[in-house]
Amino acid sequence: MNQHDLTLVGAIKRETGSQDVFVARHLIDGVWVDGASGETFTRHSPACGTQTAIAAKGNETDVEAAVQAARLAFDDGRWSQKSGRERAQLLSRVADLIDRDRERIALYETLESGKPISQAKAEIEGAADLWRHAGALARMIHGDAHNALGTDMLAMVLKEPVGVVSMITPWNFPFLIVSQKLPYALAAGCCAVVKPSELTSVTTVILGELLQEAGLPAGVVNIVLGYGQPVGSLMTTHPGVDMVSFTGSTATGKAIVAASSQTLKKVSLELGGKNPQAVFVDADLDQAADAIVFGIYFNAGECCNSGSRIIVHHSVAETLTAKIVALSKRVPFGDPLDPATKVGAIISAEHQQKIDSYVVAARAAGATVEIGGSAIDIDGLEGRFYGPTVVSGVTPDMPIAREEVFGPVLSVLTFDTLDEAIEIANDSAYGLSAGVWSDNIHTCLEFVRRAEAGTVWTNTWMDGFAELPFGGVKESGLGCELGRFGIEEYLETKTVQMRIGKTRQMWV
Ligand code: NAD
Repeated sequence: MNQHDLTLVGAIKRETGSQDVFVARHLIDGVWVDGASGETFTRHSPACGTQTAIAAKGNETDVEAAVQAARLAFDDGRWSQKSGRERAQLLSRVADLIDRDRERIALYETLESGKPISQAKAEIEGAADLWRHAGALARMIHGDAHNALGTDMLAMVLKEPVGVVSMITPWNFPFLIVSQKLPYALAAGCCAVVKPSELTSVTTVILGELLQEAGLPAGVVNIVLGYGQPVGSLMTTHPGVDMVSFTGSTATGKAIVAASSQTLKKVSLELGGKNPQAVFVDADLDQAADAIVFGIYFNAGECCNSGSRIIVHHSVAETLTAKIVALSKRVPFGDPLDPATKVGAIISAEHQQKIDSYVVAARAAGATVEIGGSAIDIDGLEGRFYGPTVVSGVTPDMPIAREEVFGPVLSVLTFDTLDEAIEIANDSAYGLSAGVWSDNIHTCLEFVRRAEAGTVWTNTWMDGFAELPFGGVKESGLGCELGRFGIEEYLETKTVQMRIGKTRQMWV
């Protein structure tokens, strides 16, 4: 064992008492249980290879039990019939517990995902904010009243919880993403079955512990651990489930739409992106370079909002690329447990290979690798790291410009006119986010209005607020999360029409 392993094991032991690894079980009907099959799977830290968790491996029996528990909990009203005030109080207690346990949750988030510990702490803090925001929305649920339909008619529009929601989440922001879904569904009065990614089970399990401590009734939230097949898949077809809320790849999102169509479930999808930023000649190039470097290396580029394509006016392309390359050399890549690290490890060996294959193909097609373009070694760590990479001379037809690389790899494309910049930006199957850099408000607004994206940033990148909705268009998703829409997704609409008085015959 090297020094890093010892530090890691020490950190885990401090957090878990005598255990070296986190033992994660399913949460079904308020009880922590091993899987029906008794099978387990393990997770090793992507930064150093040390085992961090052993988890129950879910199967059909586990999913059945979890859906039944959620169904019963929803149908008997133990949560759905609580007032908005009571729901808000519980969500706020959960937020306080997340704050209390921030260090512990962040540590496991880092151990399993490879993201830097300082970033993980900020994400857990942000997640607590979402639980509070959803709590505030729980007290705002209301419908409409119609008083102008005639003297003998009064009508109301009611908002009611959708029912049982399957939530399936990815590995890149495990705690943050479940916190973009679960508190909003609970605020609406829904019950849930949650499946985290098989690569990052632990922090969702810790969340389950906190929900119990906060006093959430048994069965309202159930957690099943395991893989897309069979667990995720069954969660999207089970007739006892009313809605699927999914964040992950576009390919899996399409499979979920097909699977859930047999029972016509409501589906909400937060999928991939190939997010462009157009940089015009009048932009502040220093500011733009700084934000571009953040946008591409944040979370090692394993981010749906990764700013993976820049489209820069040809006259400033060389200057901007030089600034980006210079900044790339200064970004602290390395040990995720070091508080100074800003970019950590790559999630898996297969993923590292996939990232590299895009760079290899771009080079073969004539693009220039300005910096990086290969795996890097970090002293004392056996894990997987990929060097900060900038590829120039990329053309819109290359896979590196069209597909989600999901790594610290920036593609630089060029344009001559505003129309061309917008055309290149929109020439994508995805439509998650986009950005524009210019000192001219007219240029910014024209780009904003013509960009095919769920979010557009002007002269900034990847700011985010609980108050603002987030979602994608085209193949980046269906529906959106956060803002007031965050709770709307989990509400159905019921119309009530009341005849007043007995003065008129209905028909004959
Ligand atoms: P993934 O699609 O491989 O897996 C996501 C989840 O789906 C996992 O829990 C997995 O076990 C499960 N799953 C796999 N197959 C399934 C099936 N057939 N039915 C049901 N569930 C199944 O995605 P990933 O690699 O974990 O995450 C990376 C992807 O997520 C990227 O494409 C990224 O852009 C996207 N993402 C999007 C957002 C957003 O808000 N738009 C946020 C984060 C990540």
